[in-house]
Amino acid sequence: MDQQSQDFYPKLEALAATAAAGAVTVDADGIFPTAHIQAFQESGLAGLTMAAVVGGGGGGLRQAAAVVQRLGAACGSTAMIVTMHYCAAAVVEAHGSEELRRRVAAGGALTTLAFSEAGSRSHFWAPISTARREGDAIVLDAAKSWVTSANEADFYIWSSQATTGEGVSLWLVPRNTPGIVPGSGFDGLGLRGNDSAPVKAAGARIPAANLLGGDGAGADIMLSTVLPVFTLLSAANALGIMEGALSRTIAHVTATGFAHLGQQLSALPTIRAYLARMQVKTDLVRALIADTIAALESSAPETGLRVLEVKAAAGEAATEATELAMRICGGAAFRKETGVERHFRDARAGTVMAPTTDQLYDFIGRALCGLDLFA
Ligand SMILES: Cc1cc2nc3c(=O)[nH]c(=O)nc-3n(C[C@H](O)[C@H](O)[C@H](O)COP(=O)(O)OP(=O)(O)OC[C@H]3O[C@@H](n4cnc5c(N)ncnc54)[C@H](O)[C@@H]3O)c2cc1C
Repeated sequence: MDQQSQDFYPKLEALAATAAAGAVTVDADGIFPTAHIQAFQESGLAGLTMAAVVGGGGGGLRQAAAVVQRLGAACGSTAMIVTMHYCAAAVVEAHGSEELRRRVAAGGALTTLAFSEAGSRSHFWAPISTARREGDAIVLDAAKSWVTSANEADFYIWSSQATTGEGVSLWLVPRNTPGIVPGSGFDGLGLRGNDSAPVKAAGARIPAANLLGGDGAGADIMLSTVLPVFTLLSAANALGIMEGALSRTIAHVTATGFAHLGQQLSALPTIRAYLARMQVKTDLVRALIADTIAALESSAPETGLRVLEVKAAAGEAATEATELAMRICGGAAFRKETGVERHFRDARAGTVMAPTTDQLYDFIGRALCGLDLFA
């Protein structure tokens, strides 16, 4: 099912409605949105980006971004879980077995990335964790610091040092592998339902055949296969969050007013100007996302730069736009009655997820100066 197929938008709208209905509870209780993810898997959208030859939708990043954007407006936690699934699915599509690809294409497995580590923190390209070969098995030891869907994913795309100690390798790690221990609970500021918990590996044994790509080829896969998906879809989530905040803010200022003046909040020029700034920031992000997708689809020379820019720009714009929403809606936003404070909190995660905004600014500057990004 790609974006051209007739049932893409009806299925997406139905999924978004399910996600919107549960979003407040997911956020308030910090619980994994099980019903939303079940609906995602049953809708066929979980296999959207897998190739048609293995039963997937044959869709690309344009379609995946549309899904994440729509979900971001409804439930940021669900959009985050879906983002990590599409990132991991890209690795499966490129390097997984046909059996695994078919399973993901059919929506039969939720996937995620286990990259960040307690030791190297946001520098995901430099794992401290190890993979040791013992006959036909690989023994993993690691302290992963943040894994979205840690307690819910069927398997992780897992980074470690290569078995030789030279470079990075990626592995397919089923969550139920003995020695793999996800931490419990995620009590975050925003995206409170995304179950982003630490995961430990203590002598966890997986088949050597679970290597994805070559031993030591993991960094290339991270940068060429995962990074464009992650930065674009993070930006799509930020855009969805901005749209959600904008529509709630407009609803508030046009429905609430000063009885003694006979005016709505929208009668105030300052309110309208702040609203205009929200709209402009939102549309700038929308335009940059469209430009990034166009660059990716045509392999344009500016693609690498756009892939770095889009997450930095969208993440920062979302924090600014949702801050404006809080100011516009006043005390009503400080309480939960307008719903904009959930978007305000959700928006903040995008700037600290690696590559963080500050790392991206450094990478962009390095690229502009012709310097090595990771020197
Ligand atoms: C909601 C959420 C979900 C997540 N899900 C996943 C997941 O599914 N899988 C996964 O692998 N990880 C995940 N992460 C982890 C994420 O990608 C980062 O690794 C993590 O947020 C970094 O936090 P830290 O405290 O270790 O940051 P630190 O590395 O301690 O950074 C602290 C500060 O230093 C800055 N900084 C660090 N290095 C540089 C640099 N070179 N240049 C300039 N500034 C720099 C950072 O920008 C930041 O402001 C998730 C994080 C969040 C918040």
